[in-house]
Amino acid sequence: MSFEIRERGILGRIGRLETKSGMIETPLLLPVINPTVQLIPPRKMQELFDCTAVMTNAYIIRKRFEGEATDKGIHSVLDFNGVIMTDSGAYQTLVYGDVEVPPEAIVQFQEEINTDIATILDIPTGWDVSEEYAQHTVDETLRRARNLSSIKTRDDIAWMGPVQGGRYLDLVIRSATEMGKLPFEVHALGSPTPVMEQYLFDTLVGMIMAAKMNLPAERPLHLFGAGHLFMFALAVALGCDLFDSAAYAKYARQGRYMTERGTTRLSELRYFPCSCPVCRKNDPESVLEMEKIERQRLLAEHNLYVSFSEIKLTKQAIVEGRLWELLELRAHGHPRLLQALKTLGKYAEYLESHSPITKRSGLFFFSSLGLPRPEVIRHQKRLSERYSPPRAKVLVLLPQTRMKPFHKSNRYQRALKDIQRNLREETDDFHICVYAAPFGIVPIELDEVYPLSQYESVAPLDLETIDYVAKQVADYIMAMDYERVVLTEDAETWKGRIATACRRACERKGTPLRVVRT
Ligand SMILES: [Zn+2]
Repeated sequence: MSFEIRERGILGRIGRLETKSGMIETPLLLPVINPTVQLIPPRKMQELFDCTAVMTNAYIIRKRFEGEATDKGIHSVLDFNGVIMTDSGAYQTLVYGDVEVPPEAIVQFQEEINTDIATILDIPTGWDVSEEYAQHTVDETLRRARNLSSIKTRDDIAWMGPVQGGRYLDLVIRSATEMGKLPFEVHALGSPTPVMEQYLFDTLVGMIMAAKMNLPAERPLHLFGAGHLFMFALAVALGCDLFDSAAYAKYARQGRYMTERGTTRLSELRYFPCSCPVCRKNDPESVLEMEKIERQRLLAEHNLYVSFSEIKLTKQAIVEGRLWELLELRAHGHPRLLQALKTLGKYAEYLESHSPITKRSGLFFFSSLGLPRPEVIRHQKRLSERYSPPRAKVLVLLPQTRMKPFHKSNRYQRALKDIQRNLREETDDFHICVYAAPFGIVPIELDEVYPLSQYESVAPLDLETIDYVAKQVADYIMAMDYERVVLTEDAETWKGRIATACRRACERKGTPLRVVRT
């Protein structure tokens, strides 16, 4: 089995995972198939959605189809010739209190049914549990993971090493670190049910990052029970490659229609805001009047259509270098997603150091939400770690112009003339920097370097952004050794905060400052 990464964006990647039943491209959604109740048969999923992989539960297969599955194989039981991933059924073991299934038996069974990607019988941490119990789930899952090599007999099945720990992030870190040392082909993160059901996406971000930062980067990461399509882009951006989802069917049974903004009850819809074959041929009223099974089937089909589209949209965003923009767009579909995106600031340095350097497209800067994005952090780091300004006695700070690159705008040319007139008697030894959102300080000789001119930002700026730029200006003054600073202030745009920051920095540094108004 091999995993080849083709494209990257933030921590997300488009990759090719080779399995014994064929190549699958990631990020990939694997619909969960309950073999006893199939709203859409796997074969039809292949035809309708080009679905290349599905997930099913080894525990249920063992309980209901044991003889058939071991005789004919899981591909025949499900009537699906794509890639099949099996979950060990750890969750069911827990729910049904079935302690009779030994972990070894589940490993052997998955080999016998000829699955493609298999999971050891882990112990899900759950949500409402003590740290002590959580620790037990991590330790016991690790013990079983270490035993795998002595039980398994085949090398053509990819084994998945699950990371446990739940909301105890220190345990997630330990679990990921230890799992990563074992020879698994794929890793998986188990997320407790309330995280997805109650939209605790900020908790999820913490868990994914704790796992991702401590697992081997070259192995694919699967997110168990990913659920709703509106969080796919976020999970992909944080480096999740595979998702299983039972949500399309679960929501369909509840009469719920999925969109990229959440779910809506079928009874509340007057229009189908979608152009998939189901929504093109029907209207909400007629679907509501259908027999229950037919209604659920159509809803499940629509739900899968939009889920697969979202994965494609996310992949396209990676290709275009616009994954961050997609994150911001999706974050505005639900307050909990926005809350999750706001926590990314905590990981800004890591995201930057692991994000690819692409120059595909200009950035759209909408608000302070975009400040932790890798391009902004990268510029800040380069300026403080690698940049030395040309020798000059005077630092001249000019405000950003709408037209870019700055040095080609009329406003810049006018400001330059003013400065030259003002400074003529004193010196012509000055260095110009533009203060601009979101990058902070842009030395004029670099203003054509990507992405310092290749972006669009919003006016008026929000206060957090203004304060960020003001801090960058102050940090720059403190770090460099100019003899004097001349600030051209655009007090209206910057609410006087750039001048305040300059005054404070110059005072601390003992550098004379002159403020000129535009
Ligand atoms: Zn539709």
